[in-house]
Amino acid sequence: MTTAALIMAAGRGQRLGGSLAKQYLELGGCALLTHSVSAFAKHEAVGPVRVVISANDEQTYRAAVSGLDLLEPVIGGAERQESVRLGLESLEDLAPDRVLIHDAARPFVSAEMIDRVLAALNQGPGAVAAVALADTLKRQAAATHTIAATVDRAGLWRAQTPQGFAYAEILAAHRAAAQSAGPDFTDDAAVAEAAGLTVELVVGDEDNFKVTTTDDMERARRLFDSRLGDVRVGSGFDVHRFGPGDHVMLCGLALPHERGLVGHSDADVALHALTDALLSALAEGDIGSHFPPGEERWQGADSATFVRFAMARLAARGGRLAHVDLTIVCQQPKIAPQREAMRARLAELLELEPGRIAVKGTTSEGLGFTGRGEGIAVQATATVRLPG
Ligand code: MG
Repeated sequence: MTTAALIMAAGRGQRLGGSLAKQYLELGGCALLTHSVSAFAKHEAVGPVRVVISANDEQTYRAAVSGLDLLEPVIGGAERQESVRLGLESLEDLAPDRVLIHDAARPFVSAEMIDRVLAALNQGPGAVAAVALADTLKRQAAATHTIAATVDRAGLWRAQTPQGFAYAEILAAHRAAAQSAGPDFTDDAAVAEAAGLTVELVVGDEDNFKVTTTDDMERARRLFDSRLGDVRVGSGFDVHRFGPGDHVMLCGLALPHERGLVGHSDADVALHALTDALLSALAEGDIGSHFPPGEERWQGADSATFVRFAMARLAARGGRLAHVDLTIVCQQPKIAPQREAMRARLAELLELEPGRIAVKGTTSEGLGFTGRGEGIAVQATATVRLPG
C-alpha cells in the first residue's frame, strides 16, 4: 500500500505584505511551508511527497525544502482545483494506492491527524479532517449588519486538510470536474462528492488552521512560541586585560576610560561572554571555535558580529531568546551610570525587550586582578527556548 502526499503551495493571490507568498513567510526559523511539508515527509506511513508550487516561487521553494527527501515539485495552474489535478496527474507513473492532499498554509498538521485520515481511508475512498461547528451561526440580512436568521448548526463541520482519497478515484473525479462547466470546487472533498464518492469526516484540530490573514500569521507565531518547551540556560565567562587606549567597549558601547582593553577584536568582554552564553545554551561550541582569534578578518572586529552569529544559530534552530543576564566585574569604569544605555543597546542587538535584559556591575572588593585594576571580567547567562 503506497500513500503519496501532495502539498498545495501554488497560491500567490493573497499576500500578507512584501513580495513573498504567505507559505514562504518565516515561522520559527524556517518557511511556514517547511513545517507542513516536513510533517508528511517525516511520517512513516507516507511515501513520496510532491509539492505543487507557482513557477515564480521555484528558487524560494528550493531553499525552503533543502534537506528534505521530496519528489521534484510541479507547477500549479491558475486555480487551486487545477493545481491539484496537475499534481494528481504528475503522480500517475507512481500509481500510489492513496493520496493525501494538504494545504501548505496549514503548518500545524500533526502526525496523529495524518494517522486518523489514513485509518479512515482503510474503510472507504475518502476522508477529510474537519472540525464540528461550536459557534451559533447567523445569516446576515442583505445590505445590513442585522441578523436575518439563525442557522441550525447541527451536523455542520468546517473542512480542513489533509484530505485523503483512493488515488485512482480522486484522479478520475478531478478529470471529470475539469470537464464540467460549473464553478471551481473549493476543496477536494467537494470534487469527490460531485463524483459520488463517500467521504468520511475525521476529527481535525483547531490548531490546524489555515494561515490566510496577518492575524492568522500572528496566531501561528504565538502558537509556535507556546510550543517551545525545551528550555536551556547557557553561561559564558570572559576576561580582557587593560592596555593603552582612551575607551573600553562594553555591551556595544564605547565608554571613555583612561585605558583600553586588549584583544584581537574590539575586546568587548561583555559581548564575548554573552556570545558564549548563547552558544552554550545551544551546545554549539564557543566564540573561539567559530571565530578563531588568529584570523586576520576578526582584527578589530565589532563584537556585535559574534552576538548576531549566535542569534542566527538560535533562529536556525527555531528557538527564542527568553532572558540574558550580565555581571561585569571591575573597579573602573563604574557600571551603574551606564546600565540603562547598555540594556537599550543589548535590546536593539538581541531584538529582545529590555524587561528580559539584566546588566549589573560589581567590584571584587579590591581583590584579585579585577581588584588591582588589571582588567575586566564578565559573567553572562542566557535562557533560550527551543522546539520540543
Ligand atoms: Mg574575549
